[in-house]
Amino acid sequence: MCGIIGYTGRRQAAPVLLDGLKRLEYRGYDSAGIALVRGTGFFVRKKKGRVEELSETASERGTVGIGHTRWATHGEPSERNAHPHVCGKFALVHNGIVENGFRLRKELEETGEIFSSDTDSETVVRLLNRLYDGDVLAALKKTAERLEGSYALAILCADFPDEIFCARRASPLIVGVGAGECYAVSDPVAVAGREGKFYALSDGEFARLSPDGATVYDRYLRPVAKEEKQYGRAEVPQLGAFRHFMRKEMEEIPDAIEKSLLKFIDEPLKNLMRRTKSVSIVACGTAYHSGVAAKTAIEALARIPVEVCVASEYRYGNPVSGEGTLVLAVSQSGETADTIAAARLAKERGASVVAVTNVADSTLTTAADLTLYTYAGREIGVAATKSYNAQLALLYSFAVALAQGKGREELPYSALTELPALAKRALRACDGVRSWAQRFQNARSVFFIGRGSDYAAALEGSLKLKELSYLPSEGYAAGELKHGTLALIDRNTPVVALLTNREIAEKTMNAVHEAYARGARVFLVTSLPEYALRKEVSASVVVPETDPLFSPALSVIPLQALAYYTALACGNDPDKPRNLAKSVTVE
Ligand code: GLU
Repeated sequence: MCGIIGYTGRRQAAPVLLDGLKRLEYRGYDSAGIALVRGTGFFVRKKKGRVEELSETASERGTVGIGHTRWATHGEPSERNAHPHVCGKFALVHNGIVENGFRLRKELEETGEIFSSDTDSETVVRLLNRLYDGDVLAALKKTAERLEGSYALAILCADFPDEIFCARRASPLIVGVGAGECYAVSDPVAVAGREGKFYALSDGEFARLSPDGATVYDRYLRPVAKEEKQYGRAEVPQLGAFRHFMRKEMEEIPDAIEKSLLKFIDEPLKNLMRRTKSVSIVACGTAYHSGVAAKTAIEALARIPVEVCVASEYRYGNPVSGEGTLVLAVSQSGETADTIAAARLAKERGASVVAVTNVADSTLTTAADLTLYTYAGREIGVAATKSYNAQLALLYSFAVALAQGKGREELPYSALTELPALAKRALRACDGVRSWAQRFQNARSVFFIGRGSDYAAALEGSLKLKELSYLPSEGYAAGELKHGTLALIDRNTPVVALLTNREIAEKTMNAVHEAYARGARVFLVTSLPEYALRKEVSASVVVPETDPLFSPALSVIPLQALAYYTALACGNDPDKPRNLAKSVTVE
């Protein structure tokens, strides 16, 4: 995914680049680098690890520069593969994937080019240098024509020492124009608080930035007038009294739920609901899990069939969707490449597409007929917490509205409106799981089990633990354990059982007995306190009772806390788990 930034102006560039890169770290953080124009060449510094590894470059002089914080797609995370990549008169940072990078590399190597990294990005700078004959934009256009895949590029050229050249296809790039300075950034948060007008480059566009302003060009290099984009004042969240954003953001769950419940169904959405005969939810990761939870609620309440699809599978499958199918495309960032592609495919096939996202005007919204926003606020922790609860709130209220539109009666309105207050109480259960972490830290693997909506919460609880503690873990349908997976259970395999539905509680307890009988320690997350007393249960936390259809919004909270505390016990940074990034803008 990577975060990129470029600055040209009258100020020293290094502090602006470093500050921006820190704010872009949510996009990747396995290595980082900057390049500054220096005389007839460049000062370049790259480091493996976080942006703070570059802090000694803050005093490096130069008023024009580019920076990059990487999430490796091609080539291991290392100093050698970190950006910027330099070739001849050019230094370049890239966000995206050059899908024909291997072929281009071979072609360049066969004609004498010697690569100094394993990245796909280096092919771009080498190709550009080859095609350059004094006109950067012309060479960049020719280079872009050879590239397959996605890119946002910011480029320095030694022949034009106060300029930055940009190109974009399928990866975000925003140009900012201030007084006597210009920026190019993956996300305006990188320059939040700085004055300027912002313009989002469209696919196929190029830009040329200098301290005096910016010009944007279309794919034929004809200048285009861009409409200014209002990004609002992107606040940079502060930790306050918390050690980590993840823990702080969990405290914001009740508010995120409250704000994300659908309060009003407008006519266009009503019309769309009326036409709906089936629902397909397309999403990835945590958003996929909110889809699994929503399926149970929509089917139970609206009696409409729902399928939940991993977006990366949907987009390359041959989905049966068309008129009458409502596709809910769920993505916190609204920039998840797979979900956007799935939404576009669904639309092509004639389905109605509703985007569910936390970010106004994100790319997903442009692929949808309608957008429903969650209001979780900005989420910094890479492993999603409050955005999941917000998605549940929105999807549950959507389920109720859909059911109402279908004339169903006795809908659980009050259970919905009580959720924020109950989430506040569920947060108190977090302290209860703190002591569990010691027992999970050295586990061989962990199982999270449940039935119905408890199964949905189990999937998300397991993902959280994997993301943050790096322990192998599985979310499993409780009744399915005995069909093979029980072979993995022993005394080193803690089992977290979720139990929030009285009607099927004993059925889930059967699985608990089976695991216990094989030596597993069982940890219970329940809204039914009487089960906490069972002898099979090593430890338990009690969450408030709600309609079982909505229980994941509450039962996931101690599971998020469990992942957090286990990460701490393992010595991991819960805000920035290894190998991950917050918004997955590559496929
Ligand atoms: N593909 C480039 C690399 O691996 C950029 C990665 C990205 O933008 O995700 O260095």
